[in-house]
Amino acid sequence: MDLQERISALGAAPDLGDAVATVTLDVSGSGILPREAAVFLRDRVYSRLERVERAAESDQLRRAAAHIRDYISSSLKPETEGLYLAAGAEGLEAMELRVPLRNSVQVESSPCIAPLVEAGQRWPRSLYVRFDDRRADIMEFDLGILAEVATHVSGHPDSDVERSAVGAAAVRHGMRLSGSGVGGDRRDRFQQSMNAGVEGMLRQAARSILARRGDGASPIFIEGKPRRHDALVRHLTKGARADIHLLPATGRKGEPALRRIMTALEKRHEEAVELQVLELQSHRAEGGRFVLGPEGMAQALTEGRLARLFVTADHPAPGVRCSNCAGLFAGSQTRCTNCGGAVRRVSLREEALRRSLGGRTFDVTFVGASKGWLTELGGMAALLKR
Ligand SMILES: [Zn+2]
Repeated sequence: MDLQERISALGAAPDLGDAVATVTLDVSGSGILPREAAVFLRDRVYSRLERVERAAESDQLRRAAAHIRDYISSSLKPETEGLYLAAGAEGLEAMELRVPLRNSVQVESSPCIAPLVEAGQRWPRSLYVRFDDRRADIMEFDLGILAEVATHVSGHPDSDVERSAVGAAAVRHGMRLSGSGVGGDRRDRFQQSMNAGVEGMLRQAARSILARRGDGASPIFIEGKPRRHDALVRHLTKGARADIHLLPATGRKGEPALRRIMTALEKRHEEAVELQVLELQSHRAEGGRFVLGPEGMAQALTEGRLARLFVTADHPAPGVRCSNCAGLFAGSQTRCTNCGGAVRRVSLREEALRRSLGGRTFDVTFVGASKGWLTELGGMAALLKR
């Protein structure tokens, strides 16, 4: 199940109750709760859930806290980096991810999907390609897991050989010949046939890469000598070329590919967010096509005018939703402005995220927690469509 499916499943999860605590913890792949996470749970989560003054919520949140205690006391998978918990009076939904999540807690009327949507943006499904003259390995990165997709070898340009005996034999054959010191014409002919073999292998590799991309995996990380990359890259489409990143080769420390991919993905994400925020700032400077704050966002969302929404994982942007006409409003009004219907307290950020996943008519940028300007704006800003 990919992240998008997991988020949808969460939305369709059995009712957890009226008040749901969404807790994310950085458990850093140790199998036991790190000290920081334990302190966060004690000081920020349990203390908040177990000392609620509003009578209607207090029993619900106390039961939610009990579900969280139960889950934490049972063992975490040792490979889990980030723990996502949505707990209500009636039960708990948990996801143990192999990518890190920050320590956070939010109490809303339904599970908060913001931490998962943000993780999906930070750690998109990606391809990792490693090749030399003999073989090209293509792997896929998905939420912290690196899995082999295809292996192509140059000895057999017309067949997709995956670790088969034929493939291994071809590699051995090629190696022996290239080391045998054949001279003159024979070496030229050999070189030509090797080149054709490498060319065929890279064509096959490009085909595998494009097939995975068509299935939603992007960006592409290529490892190997930079001067050789063109040989592969020219078999890719223009769209694929735009999202190619050279992965620094293994240093002396021998850092594993998975770690290097994750570092590169973080960097790519930070750079993209920076550019998107700059775009918003330039619109602010020019005075056109943007809204600031939950009120303007709610209206633009209702009118279908959002192009890119800026939110932060730390600010839920409280508001209400009309149970009758589904109108969204910032603040804490008790009746719908449109139809006078009854309203329910919601997080406008969550409402907008769910609609962006469902309709896919606008993009979302998560602005980092340390950036105070968005919090000052009520946690929301947006670029509008032309
Ligand atoms: Zn209404």
